[in-house]
Amino acid sequence: MAARLPDNVIETGGVLIAGAGLAGLFCALQFKDRPVTVLATAKPGAGAASAWAQGGIAAPLGPDDSTALHVADTVAAGAGLVDEAIVRLMAEEAPERIDDLARLGVPFDRDAQGRLVLGREAAHSRNRIVRVQGDRAGAEIMKALGRTALARPNIRIVWGLTALELGLVDGRTAGLFARTADGRPVFLKASQIVFALGGVGALYEVTTNPAEARGQGIAIAARAGAKIADAEFVQFHPTAIAVGRDPAPLATEALRGEGAVLISEKGVRFMTAVHPLAELAPRDIVARAIHREIQAGGKAFLDARAAVGKRFPDQFPTVHAACIAEGIDPVTMPIPVAPAAHYHMGGIAVDAWGRTGVPGLWACGEVASTGAHGANRLASNSLLEAIVFGSRVARDICDQGEPDTSALAAVPEFDGPHDTFLHAPQQLRRAMTAFVGVERNAEGLFRALAEIDRVERAGSGDLALVNMTTAAKFIAAAALLRRESRGGHYRSDCPAADPSMARRRSLTLGEANAVLEEARSTPLRIAAAP
Ligand SMILES: Cc1cc2nc3c(=O)[nH]c(=O)nc-3n(C[C@H](O)[C@H](O)[C@H](O)COP(=O)(O)OP(=O)(O)OC[C@H]3O[C@@H](n4cnc5c(N)ncnc54)[C@H](O)[C@@H]3O)c2cc1C
Repeated sequence: MAARLPDNVIETGGVLIAGAGLAGLFCALQFKDRPVTVLATAKPGAGAASAWAQGGIAAPLGPDDSTALHVADTVAAGAGLVDEAIVRLMAEEAPERIDDLARLGVPFDRDAQGRLVLGREAAHSRNRIVRVQGDRAGAEIMKALGRTALARPNIRIVWGLTALELGLVDGRTAGLFARTADGRPVFLKASQIVFALGGVGALYEVTTNPAEARGQGIAIAARAGAKIADAEFVQFHPTAIAVGRDPAPLATEALRGEGAVLISEKGVRFMTAVHPLAELAPRDIVARAIHREIQAGGKAFLDARAAVGKRFPDQFPTVHAACIAEGIDPVTMPIPVAPAAHYHMGGIAVDAWGRTGVPGLWACGEVASTGAHGANRLASNSLLEAIVFGSRVARDICDQGEPDTSALAAVPEFDGPHDTFLHAPQQLRRAMTAFVGVERNAEGLFRALAEIDRVERAGSGDLALVNMTTAAKFIAAAALLRRESRGGHYRSDCPAADPSMARRRSLTLGEANAVLEEARSTPLRIAAAP
């Protein structure tokens, strides 16, 4: 296709932040004077996982808590891959960032003395989850931030645009190609670009994430030369509400914290036979146990009747409403549940300041991989990561002084066909859930790579689709290369952890493509896979 330039060029005159979830908006709000443009597919709050967060934000704020304890719990959950230095600075900066949110108007739950009420979640050794109106943390935080950002004169929010491709001049960012919902191309000129484009959940058939979580930031950054770290590590939430809705509503972990139990179709509690912590075992273990009940032809239910009972509507209003909408009264009935793709520990490899290695490109929030979560995220650490690193990215950009705008005069050419907003294709999502899901093996991963390849070839080069298949390719390729089980990554053909693989790994796009090439050229390995 002939190269063409979009008719529509937007001069941002400063910093461009792609993504209007918590990471993107919080980052934008750190800039006091500099002009900031925030771009997103939907207006602030919509199309962002941030607005759906139920539990809250982890921070070591209690009198019996400390940075060291928060770090120790995070390291233990991360199954040998957590970058301790990164978690330490995340936990150290947590109290200040929570104060920032309170100043921005987030109505955190407080006791009669005005102190923050701290909840407990699985694998946290202390009460350290700050909440808002029970399970409404994400919605209320995004409401406060959206309101403040819209009122700031230096922040312009442009929604209804899908980011597709970075414009580079001499290897430096010069802007971002995007398209409108009706397929018109737009180029946003900017020399300092922050990716806050969220996760990958919607690449899976069963997910708790919004349709916008299609891994596009990973693909765009990788094409520009960024490395993608720990892509194989996807966290599956054990208790999505299994009522056939897409995305699946979530039954928050806090319900198990309150004593709700998991039962089989026959009413038998099954987690006590699986792990000493039963329902409060690490997420991956609970998710696998539920997955196996379902694979064996049964169903799994979360039973909160005895533990929560009549307190349910007040204490868990979001979950209660989701159940009632499906004809399930959780006060008197067990809730059907299934594991769902929920959070990506992997992403664009970044340093402690969110730098990606591509000059002029930073990343923060779920799209980035800082090393804070290792192979398995500790509950409620992701909102914390979004605010801590959103703030650090903004500080780093400010510390660099006035932006180098020399490349902005030359708008690079763009060569991608356009289409309207694309949901991840169902064939791709099905293959990801079946073969790159809660349990993986070499044969299934080869199949997934073949299906990803097929979907990509059938897409006639549409960039939004290529961005999804590229992200899926990174996840499947990294899962194939990691011949062991660790954290959220479970290989049924290599069920033990291999100490020699206890390290993080990054792949370039070339390396991910090489894994796909190998899968394509050696189909017999499907039968004889190691
Ligand atoms: C149901 C649910 C409950 C959760 N509960 C908690 C919790 O209690 N505590 C916790 O710590 N974490 C929780 N998480 C995880 C947490 O919400 C996310 O990790 C976090 O909100 C990610 O923030 P983000 O800003 O990086 O991404 P998001 O909030 O997902 O924002 C991404 C933004 O990028 C935009 N975007 C995506 N692709 C494009 C594109 N191509 N072009 C333009 N814009 C694009 C989206 O529209 C959106 O504005 C939960 C997640 C879910 C799904």
